[in-house]
Amino acid sequence: PERGSIVLEAEGVTKQFGGLVANKDMSLSVRAGEVLALIGPNGAGKSTMFNLLSGVLEPTAGRVRFLGEDVVGKGARRIASLGLSRTFQHVRLLPTMSVLDNVAIGAHLRERRGLLGGLFGGALRLDRAQERRLLAEAARQLERVGLGEHLHDAAGSLPLGKQRILEIARALCADPCLMLLDEPAAGLRYFEKQELAATLKKLRAEGLAILLVEHDMDFVMGLADRVVVMEFGERIAEGLPEQIQRDPRVLEAYLGG
Ligand code: ADP
Ligand code: MG
Repeated sequence: PERGSIVLEAEGVTKQFGGLVANKDMSLSVRAGEVLALIGPNGAGKSTMFNLLSGVLEPTAGRVRFLGEDVVGKGARRIASLGLSRTFQHVRLLPTMSVLDNVAIGAHLRERRGLLGGLFGGALRLDRAQERRLLAEAARQLERVGLGEHLHDAAGSLPLGKQRILEIARALCADPCLMLLDEPAAGLRYFEKQELAATLKKLRAEGLAILLVEHDMDFVMGLADRVVVMEFGERIAEGLPEQIQRDPRVLEAYLGG
């Protein structure tokens, strides 16, 4: 997609769990080449929104369009194959395997989840050409995020900040145009957050659309182009980081006014 064009658009999205309204009439859009941050207190409905956008959950009402296509009811795998990748809040990798293999296998499993059993049975059932292609793509994405020097290190030996970046490389193998990141900076040291932010800025400059949920306000304010604030399942504010920081409703939501 062209830089600045809308890749993802949610309109009037509502999600009820029984009597609980986790998302109410939520709207947001993400453009190619921008970072949109979704923030709000615990229980505000951010993770539910992620699950609705990525097809893990179906909304009770409302529309979600990805690259112009209505994706409600399409399912997470189909939406992923259209170019939406996500990482999870907790690092998921095979610690004794190399960084390169983690990315290659992760990318492969992303396409064909049924092979997990085969993997632990010792057989990935890839032919030589497939394997070479996967490894080359994994190496390319690891170089892209600055992990080119660590291809043959054990993934578990990397510091947490680099493990997070490894997961981003794995998500990049599907060649997405939109990346959803769930609390990428959680638990990282100050310099690791800076390294992560620099990586995400590079990807943004290459035209990737990034939507992130994040609690670390300094991280959000230093990285996001726009911020959407949720409280009790609803959007209470949207704007530039500097506007959001001064918004009285946002301050109240955070300070428990
Ligand atoms: P956040 O990520 O902003 O902390 P969540 O989206 O996880 O918020 O949760 C929003 C609300 O929806 C919470 O009250 C939570 O308990 C509820 N909720 C989330 N998932 C489910 C579910 N699968 N079933 C029932 N309630 C849920
Ligand atoms: Mg959450």
